[in-house]
Amino acid sequence: MTKGKSIAIIGGGPGGLILARLLQMKGVMVKVYERDLDKNVRQQGATLDLHNESGLKALQDAGLMEEFIKNYRPNADLLRIVDRKGNILTDQHTILKDDTITFGHAHFRPEIDRGPLRTILIDSLSPETIIWNCQFVNMEPSGDGWQISFKNGNTVFADIVIGADGANSKIRPYMTEIKPFYSGITVIEGLIHDSAEKAPDIHALVKEGKVFAFGNDQSIILSSKGDGSTAFYFGFKAAECWTKTCGLDFTDREQLLSWFKEEYSDWGGIWDGMITSAENLFIPRPQYCMPFDQNWKAGANITMLGDAAHLMPPYAGEGVNMAMLDALELSQCLVNEDFDDLQTAIAFYEKQMRTRAAEVAMITMDSTAMLHSDEAIPFMTGVLS
Ligand SMILES: Cc1cc2nc3c(=O)[nH]c(=O)nc-3n(C[C@H](O)[C@H](O)[C@H](O)COP(=O)(O)OP(=O)(O)OC[C@H]3O[C@@H](n4cnc5c(N)ncnc54)[C@H](O)[C@@H]3O)c2cc1C
Repeated sequence: MTKGKSIAIIGGGPGGLILARLLQMKGVMVKVYERDLDKNVRQQGATLDLHNESGLKALQDAGLMEEFIKNYRPNADLLRIVDRKGNILTDQHTILKDDTITFGHAHFRPEIDRGPLRTILIDSLSPETIIWNCQFVNMEPSGDGWQISFKNGNTVFADIVIGADGANSKIRPYMTEIKPFYSGITVIEGLIHDSAEKAPDIHALVKEGKVFAFGNDQSIILSSKGDGSTAFYFGFKAAECWTKTCGLDFTDREQLLSWFKEEYSDWGGIWDGMITSAENLFIPRPQYCMPFDQNWKAGANITMLGDAAHLMPPYAGEGVNMAMLDALELSQCLVNEDFDDLQTAIAFYEKQMRTRAAEVAMITMDSTAMLHSDEAIPFMTGVLS
């Protein structure tokens, strides 16, 4: 069905890149149009844990497990649950490891930094597959395909367009008017470079793994990265418009520190060091989720995957795994000759993707609410036991 057809994937995140790899392995003509200037743009965000039945399964089919094993970070998954004073309540570093929980085991969730994962995927593609500095602006139907325009003034024709352009997808409106709803939680993200030097107390607490701290309906999540930095996330209940109405300048550390001392006033002093030693750029992220019952009529030459299709908060660690499994299932559908035509193949993919994502989104929204309630610590310690 894809013979002689050109596929344009908009967005070179984990979902778009692994889809390109899987399609190229099947001989499909594919290009990835990515808004980043080049492959060296630094990847924000914490490490990602890949799951056996989704993210790792996609990597396996893409023939990239060997590269993954070379680049993943053993023990970066070890977690400490702490209270708001920094007292350690559960410590996976002190629990004897079960050596049978390794690759192939359902409970093994190895961690990899976003940068190395992206590099593995980029290097797996034929040269010239990714067209950098191509921010999608709009497209128009043209024959049986689409004429696509980018911010840099370039245009290109593609027979099939796949939206892999993340949370604020510009492809999604060509398929459905359904919009995400606000989860009630806003996150502020920060990064401490060289945390061993700049924030030794925090660095020691994280111990090259992760820390989840809960109290007062608020959360702090810390995650070590392979380059010696520590990423952190404050999660708290706020109105949807809080980022715009709070009056904070997110490039002003002093303002952030005052806000933190007021809002997290009954937390211990250890946390202040995160802000005083962080990069002077804090990123507010109101957390959204797609409705669980979303539906649309499948098109014959357009579809989407990952956050573009089913954005959800990060509190169940499923987003990247869902995006990579979407890519695997979509690549299988697009070359499956048992389908009568492309529209039937896309409809089949979208139906199973929506069903699966809705189940995960419901669990994620429950976890998000639980982790910002009185039940957070018993809930998390229960999950780990
Ligand atoms: C703070 C935070 C923490 C998270 N933690 C976890 C976690 O621990 N585990 C987990 O599984 N998930 C986590 N997630 C979610 C995870 O990052 C996403 O679910 C995942 O990256 C989705 O992959 P994607 O390929 O669909 O989209 P993205 O990773 O968002 O990639 C989209 C790509 O499209 C590009 N793009 C966007 N717009 C355009 C355009 N107009 N034209 C061209 N290119 C465009 C972007 O530059 C980007 O490269 C977290 C998310 C956040 C915000």
